[in-house]
Amino acid sequence: MCIFCKLVNKEIPSNVILEDDNFLAFHDLNPKAPVHILAIPKTHIDSFNEVSGELMAKMSEFIQKVAQEVKIEKSGYRIITNIGENGGQEVKHLHFHILGGAKLKWGHFSDADPQGHF
Ligand code: 5GP
Ligand code: ZN
Repeated sequence: MCIFCKLVNKEIPSNVILEDDNFLAFHDLNPKAPVHILAIPKTHIDSFNEVSGELMAKMSEFIQKVAQEVKIEKSGYRIITNIGENGGQEVKHLHFHILGGAKLKWGHFSDADPQGHF
């Protein structure tokens, strides 16, 4: 069982912010911003590549509720989902990073030539 499935099953403790039948939101163990929350589906889905449109629609509403819950919806925030090797996905269970609580930087994403692909 993957680490986030264990978290869903409460086999591993986490700091839960919001939960419903389908989703769980909890604080990231190694926060990269004053607010750094992870929102996950309770069922195991490897990554964004595999999520259905139907579940994604519900997940979008859940993420909106999380932002309201921690009161960052007006100040602004960023959602990120890393996918696969190049995306830097470490945990192979779909998760959305919800980052906020301060002005976020816009990253230097790659050392490769940004014009190089197309
Ligand atoms: P990824 O790199 O896969 O997009 O992000 C994985 C995230 O999960 C990282 O930000 C990491 O800090 C977080 N993480 C990994 N293991 C745990 C854990 O056991 N509990 C919590 N709360 N976060 C975790
Ligand atoms: Zn899982």
